[in-house]
Amino acid sequence: MKINYTTKNQRLNVEIDSDSAKDAFKKLSEFQEVFDESNCGQCNNDDLQFIVRTVEGNDYYELRCKSCGAKLAFGQHKSGGTLFPKRKLANGEFDKENKGWHKWNNGN
Ligand SMILES: [Zn+2]
Repeated sequence: MKINYTTKNQRLNVEIDSDSAKDAFKKLSEFQEVFDESNCGQCNNDDLQFIVRTVEGNDYYELRCKSCGAKLAFGQHKSGGTLFPKRKLANGEFDKENKGWHKWNNGN
């Protein structure tokens, strides 16, 4: 079955081809987790930019808010090429206030 999914902010559209409900569920969840972030967790602006930085051979995936410069960093699963947003605080608890969006002071 084919599913057409459009993100909440209407900017991205994906066609998901799946062979079962479970497969479709999994693919939609992977897509939503990365691409359905509509607003900055700091200032709520919706002008977000996808960024990949390469540092010493490692790629870092981030969303950056063009308004306030805050970033949401994505971790990479060890296999499968999937990403997940890092929404935990240093103490391991879910970042309820900013949903993982941080402002760094060192300018990168
Ligand atoms: Zn912002």
